[in-house]
Amino acid sequence: MIDLTVFAVPVFIATMIAEAAMLRQRPELKGYRRRDTRASLVMGTVNVLINLAMKGVQLAILGWFATLAPWHLDPQAWQTWAIGVVAVDFAYYWFHRSSHDVRLLWAAHVNHHSSEHYNLSTALRQSWTTPLTSLPFYWPLALIGLDPLMILTLEALNTLYQYWIHTELIDRLPVPLEAIFNTASHHRVHHGTNIEYLDRNHAGIFIVWDKLFGTFESEARPVRYGLTKNIGSFNPLVIAFHEYTAIARDLRRASSLRDALGYLFAPPGWSPDGSTLTSRQLRAAAGGRAESGSDAVGEAAPALAG
Ligand SMILES: [Zn+2]
Ligand SMILES: [Zn+2]
Repeated sequence: MIDLTVFAVPVFIATMIAEAAMLRQRPELKGYRRRDTRASLVMGTVNVLINLAMKGVQLAILGWFATLAPWHLDPQAWQTWAIGVVAVDFAYYWFHRSSHDVRLLWAAHVNHHSSEHYNLSTALRQSWTTPLTSLPFYWPLALIGLDPLMILTLEALNTLYQYWIHTELIDRLPVPLEAIFNTASHHRVHHGTNIEYLDRNHAGIFIVWDKLFGTFESEARPVRYGLTKNIGSFNPLVIAFHEYTAIARDLRRASSLRDALGYLFAPPGWSPDGSTLTSRQLRAAAGGRAESGSDAVGEAAPALAG
């Protein structure tokens, strides 16, 4: 099977070099930092290897679901590919949104948000465990008759599409494009720790899902990148597993089954005593303070939410 991501590597290298050169003329932007870029590249390389190793398992599982489909869409027809692009993007939206709403899934996805920089190398800071956590979200596509190989190919294309949007050098595009597609501007918001930007713009290719399902926010003020509580590490093992470690630590001190389930499945930042807050709680608290006249938006209590 052709692995699209591997073939894209020369494009990644050329465009990152070009972006780094251009950023040298823009000192007001953060640009590249060696340790941050190295960490992102290691994360991306291992992600590609894990995906390659898992392809057989993923195809087998999707193939089993495909046997349950009441019909099969012709994988040779362009219409099927058009349906596939939209269907895979819809599944991606819910996978990505769930990865921000359920802490156990967030533990897999958080590493993509762990850089405090925002450049093309950030796009390559891919998770080592989302190849596992994402798969159930694509099972329904096999059930509606899409070919398993087509699903995996379109999933890879969906990730590749998102490469170019990880840059501060592309400003807003013409209005019709910004209205339909996920763009650099929309995705900068997604990587923001500003309270109004938390858990917004989960789109892959089409931003319309966020607009339809109430998670859209436009880029209105400069973005602070990273996590609300940054990990301060460039060690790939820490980047990949720190949230799993944090969950295990919380589970050890859970005093009831309810607390344990909350630590696993409630949104990131949830705590039984309210000592850390979810993004929804942060937004509500900031909204309350804004209404009472204080200038607190963007500087709320530390939380685990990203
Ligand atoms: Zn995300
Ligand atoms: Zn991203």
